[in-house]
Amino acid sequence: MKPHGPIPPGYAADEDGMLLIGGDRADTLADMAGDTPLFVYDSALLTARVAQWRAAMPAAVQLHYAMKANPYAPLLAYMARLVDGFDVASGGELKAALASGMPAGDISFAGPGKRDRELEATISAGATLNLESAGEADRALSIASRLGLTPSLAVRVNPDFDLKGSGMKMGGGAKPFGVDAAEVPALVRRLIAAGADWQGFHIFAGSQALDAAAIADTQAQTVALAARLAEAIGQAPPLVNLGGGMGVPYFPGDTAVDAAAVGAALGETLAGRAAALAGSRFAMELGRWLVAEAGVYLTRVVDRKTSHGETFLVTDGGLHHQLAASGNFGTVIRRNYPIAVAGRFGDAAAETVSVVGCLCTPLDRLGDQVALPRADVGDLIAIFQAGAYGASASPAAFLGQGPAGEMLV
Ligand SMILES: *Cc1c(COP(=O)(O)O)cnc(C)c1O
Repeated sequence: MKPHGPIPPGYAADEDGMLLIGGDRADTLADMAGDTPLFVYDSALLTARVAQWRAAMPAAVQLHYAMKANPYAPLLAYMARLVDGFDVASGGELKAALASGMPAGDISFAGPGKRDRELEATISAGATLNLESAGEADRALSIASRLGLTPSLAVRVNPDFDLKGSGMKMGGGAKPFGVDAAEVPALVRRLIAAGADWQGFHIFAGSQALDAAAIADTQAQTVALAARLAEAIGQAPPLVNLGGGMGVPYFPGDTAVDAAAVGAALGETLAGRAAALAGSRFAMELGRWLVAEAGVYLTRVVDRKTSHGETFLVTDGGLHHQLAASGNFGTVIRRNYPIAVAGRFGDAAAETVSVVGCLCTPLDRLGDQVALPRADVGDLIAIFQAGAYGASASPAAFLGQGPAGEMLV
């Protein structure tokens, strides 16, 4: 038997033992959708999460949503009313962000390999480009001058440090992301001289960290780096985007980030910041921390079989919707995501089973030798932490199974 990750708070069962999502029974939601598999996102949990963040963080710090975690249009429209900005990573996401109702001035676009048409769309819309290189800066300036527009430009800095304990390192050393810190002052001076509306710095050092002290330490280093750069430039950045990094507990033994501790430390860091940043605004950009726990993936058991003494629950879902839960999205060792039998939610485990998907590959495993209450053909399996990097970060075209349904409740 292998353990599974902790079921996130905020989920309960009705008197029949059926999992409730946003107050609705999981089986009713699946009926309403007309088919499984299905992602259900609970809007009340999104609201609660943003409120938790605001209660924990210094009031002056803005909250941006990194929409690559979940770009489902109804969820974006919902988040647009809750957060202060969206961070997008492609021209397609820019379009979705603009359609969500988020004002263009509160949208910023980071990501390597921006094509000219993406630069043009961003500048035309009045959104901010987080520049990833000097070459990209040149292209943005020449596109803006051709359009006769003043571009909003920030510089993404490749910091000289990374976020300790993070699942995905995005800063430190040679990286495709951002401009090496040493080259940033000259580039910013050039942007200002060219008449651009310089928006500040974007400094993102990593993702999926659970250790509040490590996040706080990275934020302190980030603020110090921003101050050094501002001093070298001789002008305060209007905005310092501190990145994010707050992760969620996916695996056995993981515990939630102590958001209050992160916020308290950030308050001290900002109170003690250098004079060069006195007039700057600050933001954090979060993806998974905001949306992962609000999502549940529901998949139905199609077959129950035994092989060499092991029980397999074969479902209609799989890695084509839940690549991360299958262990194939940036994890070294496959471990079990939080998983439950929706109709026996909270019941004691009765057997050890492997929950597999319907793809003809041994990679397609949603729960490996996991202890669960009994489930039979027709029952729903729930996989948690499904609100981030699920539907949009999985190869839905693989094996022709098609995408899962999505629903915001
Ligand atoms: C992916 C990404 C994020 C979001 O990361 P999460 O782990 O989902 O919070 C934030 N900023 C940038 C620049 C990113 O690339």
